Amino acid sequence: MPPTATLLRPAAVFDGEALHPGWAVLVEGQRITAAGPTATLAAPAGATVLELPGLTLLPGLIEGHSHLLLHPYNETPWDDQVLKEPLALRVARATVHAQRTLLAGFTTARDLGTEGAGYADVGLKQAIDQGIIPGPRLLVATRALVATGSYGPHLAAVDDLPRGAQEADGPSLVQAVREQIGRGADVVKVYADYRWGPGETAQPTYSLEELTLVVQTARSSGRGVVAHASTAEGMRRATLAGVETIEHGDGGTPEVFRLMRQRGVALCPTVAATDATSQYRGWKKGQEPAPARVEAKHRALEAARQAGVALVMGGDVGVFPHGDNARELELLVTDYGLGPLEVLQAATSGNARLLHLPDRGRVAPGLLADLVAVAGDPTRQVQALRQVRLVMKGGVLYRQP
Ligand SMILES: [Zn+2]
Repeated sequence: MPPTATLLRPAAVFDGEALHPGWAVLVEGQRITAAGPTATLAAPAGATVLELPGLTLLPGLIEGHSHLLLHPYNETPWDDQVLKEPLALRVARATVHAQRTLLAGFTTARDLGTEGAGYADVGLKQAIDQGIIPGPRLLVATRALVATGSYGPHLAAVDDLPRGAQEADGPSLVQAVREQIGRGADVVKVYADYRWGPGETAQPTYSLEELTLVVQTARSSGRGVVAHASTAEGMRRATLAGVETIEHGDGGTPEVFRLMRQRGVALCPTVAATDATSQYRGWKKGQEPAPARVEAKHRALEAARQAGVALVMGGDVGVFPHGDNARELELLVTDYGLGPLEVLQAATSGNARLLHLPDRGRVAPGLLADLVAVAGDPTRQVQALRQVRLVMKGGVLYRQP
């Protein structure tokens, strides 16, 4: 049970939009009940007062793209995780991943596909919500949808091989979407393209009609659709079909990004995954010029920003270690030229808005008491996000100084 009331007195509060030095925050039960200048906030009788000198208090960070059921590919290749790791092993690992995510200050995560682990994300979410294991609040995508023959593992000679996602095509997509929703999907993820072209080049998978069917079926249940897409044509089709966010977007052209802007589709660039996998493939970052994939990501992000596309903060964590979620924000600042305030806004109030989570992402009365305190000022130094000293979720402290 959370204490009845906690008054937090940090050096400053970042409320999801701006930094407020000298503010304090009052938490009662699971919610924030007041935030403002310290002098205006009195502790109610029986309240715990937490003095947090030198720390900045901010809304719990929101991870926009995780895979709790995966671990880094330089430890075990993706194919081997899907084909050889028993489900129980994967779930046991995922419980640790969930804890690391929370303790890193990420109190919510949108988990975009179990990659062959079925509906294990739904059970993981239940275990977190029931307080059995510590972890972030989850939005889960379950199995994700792929066009037949497009997704891995790629061993065409073997029948009935496990797949990293659910294959469905044409009208049967309706049933597949409804199945996933019925089993607990909060969002529906669809792969609009994949590396199934000649020479394993990325090529579109689903037709515009198929993607539209997925979006209409999901939307009828009140859910949005997320599209994996890295080709301009896959992105174009996904955007026209009405998906809400596009993941990766490496091959996006200025025209496609303008279309996304017009249709209100956000981009989750996942720069950290590209950075990690490029290094797994041998790139000696800092000593060698950036490989073509990293160059493409730079061009795409630049074009997306010029077009005014909203950015979801999400690193595709799982490709790199869970708990290292801040890497996406750091790289966007150090390698891609975004400002620390901009990425911090995006990872809190921005992600909350784009992922339809009006009860979090800001420090304001009535919102969930999901709060993080870090040493220093993360609105000026993104590296401060590595100095997590306090994590509170729903008024419960999971980490404190
Ligand atoms: Zn992913």
